[in-house]
Amino acid sequence: MHTPGHVVLNLALLGSVVGHESAVIAGAVLPDLPIVVLYLRERLRGTPPETIWSVCYQRRFWLAVIHGAHSVPLSLLGMGIAWLAHSPTLIYFFLSVLFHALCDLPLHVHDAHRHFFPISSYRFISPWSYWDARYHGRTVALLELLLVLLCSLYLYLVMAPRWTATPKLLVLALLGATNLWYAQNYHRSFLRR
Ligand SMILES: [Zn+2]
Repeated sequence: MHTPGHVVLNLALLGSVVGHESAVIAGAVLPDLPIVVLYLRERLRGTPPETIWSVCYQRRFWLAVIHGAHSVPLSLLGMGIAWLAHSPTLIYFFLSVLFHALCDLPLHVHDAHRHFFPISSYRFISPWSYWDARYHGRTVALLELLLVLLCSLYLYLVMAPRWTATPKLLVLALLGATNLWYAQNYHRSFLRR
């Protein structure tokens, strides 16, 4: 899944139950943060996007960091430490990290993460991809787009009224930008070709 989708989905499914929205948002973003850092760093150096994914992304160091951030045992370890530290905020942060990892698990083919890093190198090679048209990417991406739209409506209509400290207009702008990005990305990736 794309990072904004993780945020919207985790907020709607997890945040609606446990609250702690800031922790849920941070946990939804964290696993993809190394990818963002790698991408921006290489773009600033003038590396073409194809080279970033096919060469830089595949380097041992970056794969270890990215797989570590998507690791089921590491997020469970984080939850355990947070529990010992009596920190509900950190527990829900790591729960959101785990939820992100579990949502990615069925939607990656050759780019699957090592889900049990560093205990095992096992990777579930899914038949479905959220971006690759050779592996039902067109259908999966459409389903992700619709899911994000549904969750966005739920966030705006049901959850946002409870967030009294956050201006409703800001929520509307962020959700609007997210859905617009999804529509543009779908058009660019699957309809224009
Ligand atoms: Zn991810």
